Amino acid sequence: MARSQPTNTAEIVDCVVIGTGAGGAPLLARLAMAGLKVVALEAGPRHDARRDFATDEKAQEFLFWNDERLSAGRTPTSFGNNNSGTGVGGSTLHYTAYTPRPQPDDLRLRTEFGVGQDWPLAFEDLEPYYDELEQLLGISGPAEYPWGPPRRRGYPLAPLPLNGAALLMQRACAKLGIRTSPAANAALSARYYQEGIGWREACTNRGFCQAGCSVGAKASMDVTFIPLAEAHGAEVRAGCFVTEIERDARGHMTGVVYEQDGQRHRQRCRHLFLCAGAIETPRLLLLNRLALGSGQVGQNFMAHPGMQVWGTFAEEIHPFKAIPGALISEDTHRPADADFAGGYLLQSIGVMPVTFATQVARGRGLWGPALRDYLRQYNHIAGINILGDCLPHPDNYLELSGEPDSRGLPKPRVHFSFHENEERMTRHAEDVMRRIWAAAGAEDVWAFSRSAHIIGTCRMGHSAEAAVVNSEGRSFEVPNLYICDNSVFPSALSVNPALTIMALSLRTADAFLARQRRRDQ
Ligand SMILES: Cc1cc2nc3c(=O)[nH]c(=O)nc-3n(C[C@H](O)[C@H](O)[C@H](O)COP(=O)(O)OP(=O)(O)OC[C@H]3O[C@@H](n4cnc5c(N)ncnc54)[C@H](O)[C@@H]3O)c2cc1C
Ligand code: SF4
Repeated sequence: MARSQPTNTAEIVDCVVIGTGAGGAPLLARLAMAGLKVVALEAGPRHDARRDFATDEKAQEFLFWNDERLSAGRTPTSFGNNNSGTGVGGSTLHYTAYTPRPQPDDLRLRTEFGVGQDWPLAFEDLEPYYDELEQLLGISGPAEYPWGPPRRRGYPLAPLPLNGAALLMQRACAKLGIRTSPAANAALSARYYQEGIGWREACTNRGFCQAGCSVGAKASMDVTFIPLAEAHGAEVRAGCFVTEIERDARGHMTGVVYEQDGQRHRQRCRHLFLCAGAIETPRLLLLNRLALGSGQVGQNFMAHPGMQVWGTFAEEIHPFKAIPGALISEDTHRPADADFAGGYLLQSIGVMPVTFATQVARGRGLWGPALRDYLRQYNHIAGINILGDCLPHPDNYLELSGEPDSRGLPKPRVHFSFHENEERMTRHAEDVMRRIWAAAGAEDVWAFSRSAHIIGTCRMGHSAEAAVVNSEGRSFEVPNLYICDNSVFPSALSVNPALTIMALSLRTADAFLARQRRRDQ
């Protein structure tokens, strides 16, 4: 297809950031606060939470990345509302706001088990950022958390109320001797003030976090780092889909070309921060044949084993009510009887009705009248799920397919299969979760094996032969290119990823700013 010449924006800005999710927004704010001229280009629209975020799952589908992605492998991962968002704020607009820290040994899988990858940095390198984020975002969490190293400060807010599934899980785990704790959530249990952001209102226990939080209680990027960045002069351009990354003869990046309202534009910059998520980031690099020397772009695709176990209870649960991710256990982080590497955590689930109906159709194979009959129990069902390590396997990768999308660009194809380690872990977890629900008095218990989160297609590491970026997110090949999102994780971690993505984002910005200052001296 013939393409029109892009319109030039005359100005060369210091930094362009592609994507405004957990990877892009924190560093956008940090760079703007350091006085740099920064422009963020976001493919999705900007929303007004109060106007646009309704308690209506179907109506909220615009929050997800709905462009088709091709899925292959023995256990193909599903996309859209299973893992990818779009809009100013990225996937944090729909995330559930679980924000546990990883444990230090999560970052040393190869050292500990001889498989997978170690991170090129230690937990101690991330810890100051976890601390900073928990205070800035106003994380609600327990006074004492039973797992992991001691914290330098407590969570700034008390935990949110436990929902129906969490109360049942808590009772049953106590009987079985499994420790539980209220979870850390990036949702406010009380009104909260932060310099540069202002007051944010407390959670109203509406329970539709995955449909967008209309009161701004959930710490999505649109109500935290984006306003902070804009207050310091960052420019956020919504509805701008980047298609090209331009270079000079030395191979240094010089700017990007993006489409907005059917027009092509060029934005020149001195440094580029690619934060488009674990599918679109490698896709952009592959499309532009950029930073491909390591052979690792698109490789090492990982997704958390995320089995759910559901049961029916005599009491009313109201699974749509209150913060969905309320109770956690990390007693399964390194189970004594494990026949697999790594570990997993257990989390109680709150679930919206349409999402639940979809899980039932997929997981139980019910359809038509049988599905309708089963869904009459919706107010009496409760679930637990796991998130566990996933090893990188050579046959789990992303490639460009031969099929064009609506822009004429090749759609990504993602190959994903669980291997023995993920299958053994899932079997172990199913047994634990079935025991919990049996102790809680559940009937009609069933399990649904699934994967969640998209991780690891541009991994960080120590060398240009084995990784795309270094521990500071800087490309080994293109010195003014940085990557920061889920794609840089060398291992999946046995916890939800968003807090760690944000921590890496702040760390990448700080390392970049320190290098700029050294050059200026
Ligand atoms: C239902 C659900 C619940 C979740 N709950 C949790 C949770 O409780 N806790 C947790 O830690 N994690 C959770 N996650 C995962 C978490 O939301 C993501 O891992 C994380 O937000 C990903 O951040 P990211 O910056 O890597 O990518 P994203 O947030 O996806 O950001 C990428 C951004 O880049 C933009 N973009 C992409 N391509 C282009 C382009 N070419 N040009 C311009 N812009 C582009 C996209 O529109 C998007 O806004 C959940 C995910 C889902 C699906
Ligand atoms: S449960 Fe709380 S955080 Fe979630 S959408 Fe409702 S008000 Fe927002």
